[in-house]
Amino acid sequence: MSIVVISGPSGAGKSTIINKASEHIGSFYFSISTTTRAPRVGEVNGREYFFVTKEEFEDDIKEGNFLEFAKVHDNYYGTSLKPVLNALNEGKLVIFDIDVQGHKLVREKLNKITTSIFITPPNLCELELRLKNRSLDDDEIIKRRLENAKKEIRSIKEYDYVIINDDIDRAAKEFVSVCNAARLKLSNEEIDKIISFWEKS
Ligand code: ADP
Ligand code: 5GP
Repeated sequence: MSIVVISGPSGAGKSTIINKASEHIGSFYFSISTTTRAPRVGEVNGREYFFVTKEEFEDDIKEGNFLEFAKVHDNYYGTSLKPVLNALNEGKLVIFDIDVQGHKLVREKLNKITTSIFITPPNLCELELRLKNRSLDDDEIIKRRLENAKKEIRSIKEYDYVIINDDIDRAAKEFVSVCNAARLKLSNEEIDKIISFWEKS
């Protein structure tokens, strides 16, 4: 049972890295989050996110459906518990692309099986360039994301690994290495099973 949490400023290249590495990390489940933010051009409900209203999101909170949730850039984002538990039980590596608040909450609940990576471009100017080149957000939203990035970078020390996404091929290879190492983390139950088998055989 293993979880990889990937965080970093919006525009750092998290999705690009996951896509590039996806053929080389074995069987995995990418957790599709639920959000109240509006879909960007090209985003499909159920693929990038489940897009819901604020009321629907707050109902899910009340019903205890989230493993974690947070407010990021004035919108709610959350990870649904059920599909994550199913994927973990099927032995899949579970990958979360969540913010620094979400990482803290996952650590509180599932620390033993969690490996975390913070991904960042080499500097703030490069981040701004990437957000502008991506052409998906208007200037006001980009400004807010850059402000948030300045705060998020301070959480870097809470992560197991840091990937500076300068060269995309190198960054994707580093991500594959971390996923391979993450698979070697075991839950207490898995460790107990190994000990019990080892002693009996
Ligand atoms: P995130 O998922 O972290 O929000 P994206 O994967 O959407 O970020 O990447 C943001 C933009 O930066 C995209 O246009 C992507 O093509 C580009 N990008 C990603 N990695 C690199 C890199 N190493 N060098 C230059 N551009 C990159
Ligand atoms: P974006 O709007 O660019 O897709 O995502 C904005 C931020 O929200 C990113 O930092 C992303 O990692 C974070 N995020 C996406 N899904 C979740 C989630 O389910 N929980 C939390 N806590 N953050 C999320």
